[in-house]
Amino acid sequence: MFDKLHEECGVFAIYGHPEASNLAYLGLYALQHRGQESAGICSSEGRDIHCHKAMGHVADIFTPEVLADLPGDRAIGHTRYSTAGDTVLANAQPFSVTCNKGRIAVAHNGNITNAGELRRELEREGSIFQASSDTEVILHLVARSRERTLAEALREALLELDGAFSLVFLSQDSVIVARDPNGFRPLAIGRMELPEGGTAWVFASETCAFDLINAVYVSDVEPGEMAIAGPQGLQRERFAPQRARSQCVFEHVYFSRPDSIVFGRSVQHSREMMGRLLAREHGVDADVVVPVPDSGVAAALGYSSESGIPFRHGLIRNHYVGRTFIEPSQSIRDFGVKLKLNPVRHLLAGKRIVLVDDSIVRGTTSRKLVRMVRNAGAAEVHLRVSCPPTISPCYYGVDTPDKNELIAARHSVEEIRQFVEADSLGYLSLEGLRQAVEDARREYCYACYTGDYPTELIQIEDLMAAKPVR
Ligand code: AMP
Repeated sequence: MFDKLHEECGVFAIYGHPEASNLAYLGLYALQHRGQESAGICSSEGRDIHCHKAMGHVADIFTPEVLADLPGDRAIGHTRYSTAGDTVLANAQPFSVTCNKGRIAVAHNGNITNAGELRRELEREGSIFQASSDTEVILHLVARSRERTLAEALREALLELDGAFSLVFLSQDSVIVARDPNGFRPLAIGRMELPEGGTAWVFASETCAFDLINAVYVSDVEPGEMAIAGPQGLQRERFAPQRARSQCVFEHVYFSRPDSIVFGRSVQHSREMMGRLLAREHGVDADVVVPVPDSGVAAALGYSSESGIPFRHGLIRNHYVGRTFIEPSQSIRDFGVKLKLNPVRHLLAGKRIVLVDDSIVRGTTSRKLVRMVRNAGAAEVHLRVSCPPTISPCYYGVDTPDKNELIAARHSVEEIRQFVEADSLGYLSLEGLRQAVEDARREYCYACYTGDYPTELIQIEDLMAAKPVR
């Protein structure tokens, strides 16, 4: 029995650019979809570390005045999503501290699964915790290290962590980034040639952040790799030996933006392939393919191309409403579907519809959507889902609810079809998903579809101990 932490985030870092905090702001703006609860930036001019974080969206938090107070040529940033109950500023990142390595700040995407165990050990040795987040554990491990510099301390500390972490650190003299040895969450490296000469190094959860600031995608931070951007340029090194990779396939299914390259692969391309394979596995005689915007659009395009059934935007999204999933209570989430999407009767009335979405979690959204399409006059509604049934929670940084709330954990596909009131229901198979991301080398994590976790997980109390402030 395990519990899970909820954390979906975007991270960004930049070293060597005179407008570091402005670019961090733009980078976070492009990563806004990875977390809409809070955002923060810490910058440094080499002496001090300056931070600003707040609840809300990136564009609302970072006004020109706020950015003017974040000087220096290096910065890190974070945008955070969380579930009900812990939506407070204390949880906003980056976290910054002063310790024997000087001033440091850190931002984290992922979940450290042995945080509770590490915390107890650190407390036994005299560490005092302000809060109980797993990111704070990393800072204590760094502070405890006898090594002199942040980089040296990290070489030790990172080896003690289990689970998922894409980390960006800021010290007075460098930006350091690291990715866990399994490579669960993405982290990309980019470069910018400055007009006045010299190179700025940038790091981001997704490459769409590079596009906005005209940075060039160089490569990913490899699993088990640490990269240090400092006065000597960029140095890359392994902190952990090679291990079997387990990159999160859900980044390609849903979480990342389609215009990003994630794990070296176009997200749009993966999603279109998911749709094509879905059409092959679950073809149906129908008149129109309709995506659930925006999450189902690329897969619906693939489904339409493969099946020859025309693609139409039969549901129109109000873009000024946040993702429905963010709403804290069931009643608001259901209402949110209507707030967010409205059917185009003209396209749906009398038609046999293939409705394509990326995933079914609890099933409540799908049921609302099927009803909405039917109420708009559709003759038949065939629901197609571009990933396998979600049967197990994620412990590595994607917010899936507890197992007992996952409809596919307890119900067959036929029972789910009845619940969502569709005429037919088809999920992409695990093999189909593997093929869509071209995972011939078995480098992805599919635990939410299989229950087969690639790392050893620790007991419920450990995760609970780390839970309150995440
Ligand atoms: P439901 O089945 O009602 O729980 O919600 C499913 C919808 O939530 C789908 O349309 C997905 O696009 C979306 N979704 C699935 N997983 C997540 C997640 N981890 N974060 C935000 N939205 C998600």
